[in-house]
Amino acid sequence: MSKNEFAYEKKTVYKKASPEAVKKAFDYAEEYKSFIDAAKTEREAVDEAIRLASARGFREYRLGDKISVGDKLYYNNRNKNLFLFTVGKEPLECGIRISAAHIDSPRIDLKQCPVYEDGGMSFFKTHYYGGLRKYQWLALPLALHGVIIKADGEKINIAIGEKDDDPVFYINDLLPHLAHKQGRTPLDEAVDGEKLNILIGSMTDDGEESTVKDSILKILNDKYGIVEEDFISAELSAVPAGKARDLGFDRSMICAYGHDDRVCAFPALSAILDSADSDHTLLCILADKEETGSEGNSGMQCVVMLDLIREISKALGANEAIVRANSKCLSADVSAAYDPNFSEVFEKQNCALLSCGAIFMKFTGARGKSSTNDASAEYIAWLRKILDKDGIIWQTGELGKVDCGGGGTVAKYIAKHNIDTIDLGVPLISMHAPYEVVSKVDIYETYRAIRAFNKN
Ligand code: MN
Ligand code: MN
Repeated sequence: MSKNEFAYEKKTVYKKASPEAVKKAFDYAEEYKSFIDAAKTEREAVDEAIRLASARGFREYRLGDKISVGDKLYYNNRNKNLFLFTVGKEPLECGIRISAAHIDSPRIDLKQCPVYEDGGMSFFKTHYYGGLRKYQWLALPLALHGVIIKADGEKINIAIGEKDDDPVFYINDLLPHLAHKQGRTPLDEAVDGEKLNILIGSMTDDGEESTVKDSILKILNDKYGIVEEDFISAELSAVPAGKARDLGFDRSMICAYGHDDRVCAFPALSAILDSADSDHTLLCILADKEETGSEGNSGMQCVVMLDLIREISKALGANEAIVRANSKCLSADVSAAYDPNFSEVFEKQNCALLSCGAIFMKFTGARGKSSTNDASAEYIAWLRKILDKDGIIWQTGELGKVDCGGGGTVAKYIAKHNIDTIDLGVPLISMHAPYEVVSKVDIYETYRAIRAFNKN
């Protein structure tokens, strides 16, 4: 394809930025890779964010605590959703700068009674989480992450399959020799959800009556002190095993599990940690449950964000309604990058391109702009101005062609509280696949865009 098929002469960051700036982007990508290797679930992302924030002087806040100008605080909502905020010198009624990203990603969750045995093998029953394409998750090394809370309240953290000498887990696939019928079924129906069973063992001990399931349960009891019933109060997920890897001879991209949306969560987090000099009051939200509709008490539909804004307003003697009316939000989430292998689903004049910087999107949704925030022209004009002022490399984007499908983000759940909101984030290849692809320079421009937003 010739370049001028795209309406804007979108130039890559490599062409617009200095080699030193590209070097900084590559250095920043190393920090990002360490973050996602340590944060494969929302719980791990919260732990890692608290560790990084504590090292930068943030203290834990609990509802009801005193709040003063100059404070750098975090509120940990149930270990799955984190709010970091800094209280600026500017009057709070000028509004809060909010950046919000999600830290959950599509994956395979264990059911509450997961262990069974069939055909000399033992498996976990699962229920997938989020909008994943089931056929992509077969025949891959998987790691198991999560927590088991025993009846006495003891919490056991699990992360198996990440170290070189750890065992991994696996979902069986059908051999091509016997897949004649399956091969002719629609892709979305080829793998039934109940077939996503995870292989966990195949050995019995030497007793006459012993089973594979018994020997697995014995290993778990010896190692973690758990019994079968403890799975009932557990949250365990299978995710692709292994670390984030550089992609390409030029190492310009990163191939990893769960870029969506830790590739925006990390820039939002590091931007607030690096924005201590801002006069604005800043709030960074790392949300859970976006992939399943932002519901429950750790998703963006929970009232906890309002409770926090109310507490901050009360503490500083501000009117909460005025604070919200003057607040601004970047909903930091990924969008699809143009993929020449599937060019038929992209409209070339409006899609985002890899390595052309942070994307912002006026709206998301599907079928006639339903179920979406729609940022106002006035707010977009303000955003363009501040991004240009700080030399941020940005582009506009949309998920794909009208009526090809669609998607949403947390934006609408923030906008409905009378807060100007727009989606801004990193363009992505193979969204929701076990391994997704991003460009290093786009991550860094997203970080710089959120910094500019926090400052201006
Ligand atoms: Mn997302
Ligand atoms: Mn997603």
